[in-house]
Amino acid sequence: MSELARFTEQFFQSLNAQVSWKGAVLEVTKVPEAFEAWAGKKDPFRFVFASEDEQPDTDLITKGSFLLKSMTSYLEQKGQTTLTFLKPLSDPLELIQKSLSFKNTAVTHTKKFPTYKPLYEFTFATTVSYLNKKEQSMQTLYIFNNQRMLFDVSKFTPESVSQTLPTPDLKPSYELAKAATREGIQATITKAATELQEKLTKEHTRIKAHYENHRREVQLTTQKLELQLKEALKENNFLKIAKCQEQLKQITTTDLLKKLDDEEQFFLVDERQKHALSVDTKLVSTTVFGLPDYQLELGLTGTNIHRQLNISYSLLAPQLIFTCESCALPLRDVWCCTSGHLSCLPCLAGCDLCRQPVCKRCRIQKCESCGKDLCKNCTSRCTSCLKVKCATHFGTDYITEQKRCTSCLKTCTSCTKQTIPSSIKACDKCGRAYCKPCAGASFQTGRCKGCRSNY
Ligand SMILES: [Zn+2]
Ligand SMILES: [Zn+2]
Ligand SMILES: [Zn+2]
Ligand SMILES: [Zn+2]
Ligand SMILES: [Zn+2]
Ligand SMILES: [Zn+2]
Ligand SMILES: [Zn+2]
Repeated sequence: MSELARFTEQFFQSLNAQVSWKGAVLEVTKVPEAFEAWAGKKDPFRFVFASEDEQPDTDLITKGSFLLKSMTSYLEQKGQTTLTFLKPLSDPLELIQKSLSFKNTAVTHTKKFPTYKPLYEFTFATTVSYLNKKEQSMQTLYIFNNQRMLFDVSKFTPESVSQTLPTPDLKPSYELAKAATREGIQATITKAATELQEKLTKEHTRIKAHYENHRREVQLTTQKLELQLKEALKENNFLKIAKCQEQLKQITTTDLLKKLDDEEQFFLVDERQKHALSVDTKLVSTTVFGLPDYQLELGLTGTNIHRQLNISYSLLAPQLIFTCESCALPLRDVWCCTSGHLSCLPCLAGCDLCRQPVCKRCRIQKCESCGKDLCKNCTSRCTSCLKVKCATHFGTDYITEQKRCTSCLKTCTSCTKQTIPSSIKACDKCGRAYCKPCAGASFQTGRCKGCRSNY
């Protein structure tokens, strides 16, 4: 067994493929898809190692053969990781902070959570051969999410990540990329095909003209001989008759015209073959990139303001547009209301009490007693009358410690504390209001202490 044959056999055994010898042919099946994609060829493989063993469906492995190179390069790349994680040169969090101006808040914390998806890079070498020319070109194609995409790898830098991607299934992406190579070389093919067609037409015209001349010559000769024969017959010149008949016979028995036709056909076909175009595309390298999508976290802090922004950021469609949460217009100057809403300046108003910004979405509320425009923090709804009022128009029932608006509380004239009207009693005589504790048991009569003693 030759060294190459042994190497090939061992190589496929190392891939756990099924390997068997059929005479001089090494048959290989169950080849891992990764290698099929790598070599750009599907199993079964039938290898021979000497040109005399070649059959129509075999591949000859020689020192310079493409499949041998594929095997060695596959081994080389298997040792190192073909998976490269990427990160963008410009950090998305920095981009946000550069493109936006936070007016009444500061960015107090940032976090970035990447999730990686496989992006496949395939490099193909294509040779377009015709006549004596060979036009070679390289193409690098990117496939992401089963779609071809334009990708500028120079805008990224490798990142060390301690995770793995799910074992990539290269095949569908490879097929897509391979099909797309045609697009990239179409111009070359068209140019070559045009040139070939022009040259072929010229050659064919030349051949046809050549054989047309020949045929005409044969016809002329025949006509001449027939004329000579006629004359000879008139003259009864036996020698001349015999000569003419002999020459005419030669033309018909050798079927000279058919011979010329056959020859012409042969040269026409031959020229067509010489003007054939061959396109050979080979996979040179495969790289899998881990391309991140980011979940970004941005903490904004201002006076009485906290807001955490959660942003999905895709590197393939990097859109960082922040909009006013009231009017939906895009923002450059970002304001934050006390509830943490992002807002433009026109959608913002100030609270009459705390002077903090309030956006349209939070809507300014009016105190129903004093009419001040107030933020949410500065208003409460009375549980009794259900009206919204400011802090100065709120009090506490000192008995139950419940908050009520001042209209829903009464003040005891004795202790000056406030309580709900049902806990207040008025003296029958002087009309002064007393809270229950101040009124005491003596209030049974309906009169206050003073009025009772005056009684
Ligand atoms: Zn707005
Ligand atoms: Zn306020
Ligand atoms: Zn708001
Ligand atoms: Zn008020
Ligand atoms: Zn009230
Ligand atoms: Zn009292
Ligand atoms: Zn009284």
